Amino acid sequence: MSVDVGTVIEWMRRYADVISDQKVVLTELDSAIGDADHGTNMDRGMKAVVVKLDGAPPADVGAALKTVGMTLISTVGGSGGPLYGSFFMQAGVALTGVADVTAQDLVRGLDAGVAGVMKIGKSTTGEKTMLDTLAPAVEALRVAVDGGASLGDALAAACEAGQRGMEATIPMLATKGRASYLGERSIGHQDPGATSSNLLLRALADSLG
Ligand code: ADP
Ligand code: MG
Repeated sequence: MSVDVGTVIEWMRRYADVISDQKVVLTELDSAIGDADHGTNMDRGMKAVVVKLDGAPPADVGAALKTVGMTLISTVGGSGGPLYGSFFMQAGVALTGVADVTAQDLVRGLDAGVAGVMKIGKSTTGEKTMLDTLAPAVEALRVAVDGGASLGDALAAACEAGQRGMEATIPMLATKGRASYLGERSIGHQDPGATSSNLLLRALADSLG
């Protein structure tokens, strides 16, 4: 099993669908600790991504991911757009020219994506953000792949780790982004970006099957 440009397009279609379904949930999470726009931001961005991919199908996985990143940066306002945009851009740069992404390549690409978010967000794990889902998921993916797991099994492990990371944002104090303005009042709410990232990983796992 490998990931090719068709898999990436399928991943983005599934993610656009699930974001559309979960738009209200994401916006409600953002209304508790942010400005109630995460669902609508992501929905606008992902609808634009699908239109863009349909209009000009990219040549390879790297090109597809870069297109996704650029589209999110140009269509999503606030911090979510640049953050997710960097994730996809940096993953795309790491996988430039790669047609068939192996499990090891996927680890490398997603790792570069996480590093991209950390760089632009000046953030790390434990700060109640999307990184609390993405970073442990990519780490679990790496461990599973290094241990010889199939891509499907490795992604299942990544999804489980991401889900735990997402849930772990509930008791966290936010120290980055709008939620940090709330200080102690950010405690007790699940982070919206960690939630959309959990959906992103699940959409990837589903697009392989
Ligand atoms: P905005 O905060 O501008 O309204 P969104 O609501 O679309 O943008 O996205 C908010 C999400 O972005 C948060 O839930 C959090 O996961 C993520 N986020 C915010 N700031 C950072 C950061 N510095 N690093 C990583 N993720 C961040
Ligand atoms: Mg917001």
